[in-house]
Amino acid sequence: MAATVHILGSGTPTPAPDRFGSSFAVDVDGDLLLVDCGPATTWKLAKAGLKTTDVNTIFFTHHHFDHNVDYPCFLLTRWDQGGARAEPLHALGPSPTSLITERLIGSEGAFRSDIEARMNFPGSRAIHVHRGGTLPRTPPEVRTSDIEPGYVHTGATWTMRTGLGRHVQPWLDSIAYRLETADGSIVFTGDTEPCDEIRELAAGADVMLAMCWNTEEAQPNHRDGLCTLEGAVRMAADASVGTLVLVHCGAHVAAPGVADAAIAAMGEVYQGRVVLADELMRIELSQNRVTAKS
Ligand SMILES: [Zn+2]
Repeated sequence: MAATVHILGSGTPTPAPDRFGSSFAVDVDGDLLLVDCGPATTWKLAKAGLKTTDVNTIFFTHHHFDHNVDYPCFLLTRWDQGGARAEPLHALGPSPTSLITERLIGSEGAFRSDIEARMNFPGSRAIHVHRGGTLPRTPPEVRTSDIEPGYVHTGATWTMRTGLGRHVQPWLDSIAYRLETADGSIVFTGDTEPCDEIRELAAGADVMLAMCWNTEEAQPNHRDGLCTLEGAVRMAADASVGTLVLVHCGAHVAAPGVADAAIAAMGEVYQGRVVLADELMRIELSQNRVTAKS
């Protein structure tokens, strides 16, 4: 039994050579989940040695593009590589998760012509059969659930609880997640400002992946709907979180030494461990012990 978080995206909407957007894959006792699907998630899954076809459940925190823009690529790749696999994907997230899915791959969806071509062109059908698929080829099957804070999803050996994130409402809804496993609990704040709902959801968690887009010193006047490094550290302290993993990191806070200095300055506030997440880092939980591996 073990739970491993693969950091696929630890950046922001601004592309950088080493980080871009948000996405995390979580292997819980062999069940592979995705939390968000930001830029190049499908490619980063491959870089992490993971298969799109092994992901059966995806959770969205909210529908900003840095958290969902690779969703069509992921859906189509999973379907195309799937061959004989029959299990449909389940996509969950705040509204409009269902509408976005329908507009991508539904009968009037943006990618429907590609899907029809792959279902009908003889060469594409032959490749599908070669991958273990059968004919006639069927379109991608995705079950969707638009969920609200408080929703609980139960997996084989895990439970995903949800709470409210305070980000850019009312334009987009935001959901924070708490994954309970036999080896410990992992919170994904999504994009949010520090708030009581996250403190409550994260209470006593072994790990919290929190957005940290900058230091307060570098960005004193733009904090609405967002969390700074200091805000994330204070929330981790308030919630008695064991390990704080900083994600959604902007270029300034991710520059060498900047986060280390800011974390050191918060040493009196929080005695837990703080990790600045690099892409393809793994956070491993085994019997509530947390290890970060590059
Ligand atoms: Zn956002």
